[in-house]
Amino acid sequence: MKNITIIGIGLIGSSIARDIREKNNDVIINIVDNSNTVLEKSKKLNLGNNYFEEISTFIDKTEIIFICTPISAYRSLFEKLNKFKLSNETIITDVGSCKTEVIKNAQNILTKNIKFVPAHPIAGTEQSGPESGFKGLFNNKWLIITPCKNSDDKSVKIISNLWKSFGCKIQIMDMNDHDSIMAITSHIPHIIAYNIVGTASELEDNLKEEVIKYSASGFRDFTRIASSDPTMWRDIILSNKEPILKMLEKFEKDLNGLKNAIVNDDKEKLFNIFDKTRDIRKRIVEEGQDVKEPNFGRKNQ
Ligand code: NAP
Repeated sequence: MKNITIIGIGLIGSSIARDIREKNNDVIINIVDNSNTVLEKSKKLNLGNNYFEEISTFIDKTEIIFICTPISAYRSLFEKLNKFKLSNETIITDVGSCKTEVIKNAQNILTKNIKFVPAHPIAGTEQSGPESGFKGLFNNKWLIITPCKNSDDKSVKIISNLWKSFGCKIQIMDMNDHDSIMAITSHIPHIIAYNIVGTASELEDNLKEEVIKYSASGFRDFTRIASSDPTMWRDIILSNKEPILKMLEKFEKDLNGLKNAIVNDDKEKLFNIFDKTRDIRKRIVEEGQDVKEPNFGRKNQ
């Protein structure tokens, strides 16, 4: 790998740049971002070799193009990329948090000979921008690849190996499974956090002050999640509408069950619900300590 391009140099894009630089000092890193301020910050942080506000002919020489922007920018990026003479060896890949919408757009827009490997690192923070990224963000984290018609085996292998070099564990998964799993493990927790913090912010002023003053870990954790970038999360939620709405329906049903148990002083039901959920926590902690790979029913690479 001699020449790579990162489009969108925020938290994720800049962490990729840092990991690549750490592994290979000779690789040329082209950085594209529509914000001049962000490009200036990236220069100061020495994240790349060349900086551009727009894709131009330099892209013809690049071997791997990482799309690391919010998902709403993808369509126009695919359209632009389609117009350049990308080499047969060039691979476009991404890091977007939903996959079916991304793949639908890629397959509708990109010509058949363009290689695209859809990917999603299960790593991140609530921060944004190039100053928030760091070396090692992806170490020991999952990278999910959801191959599509534009992904051949060789390209999938190249992208897998690159992420492995950042310390990732690789999982190949069907795009629909990916989006359903992310709906419950990531997207709905964010919706709940935005909602609960939103409710608190609408309390009468005096009550709101007390909420902030006495915030214990439960509410504090929600405020951390609810401080995530609004553009990015708006895009994620709208790009994964169907699985999210399906899971929200189930969530509402379960919440009503909980509400009825409270109304009816149903001690046994409340205890059983709270007891069952402790088991999930135990398994998640065990999974974290023991780096055994979960099997989502797909082969690992
Ligand atoms: P970020 O820190 O906000 O960075 C995104 C960057 O892309 C910003 O500098 C933004 O500039 C730029 N951008 C927007 N539209 C562009 C365009 N058309 N051309 C070039 N640059 C453009 O976001 P992030 O947290 O790195 O997230 C990026 C992607 O990673 C998202 O698709 C997200 O789903 C995925 N992801 C995020 C996380 C996470 O925890 N954050 C985890 C896994 C995957 P402006 O700010 O000026 O618009």
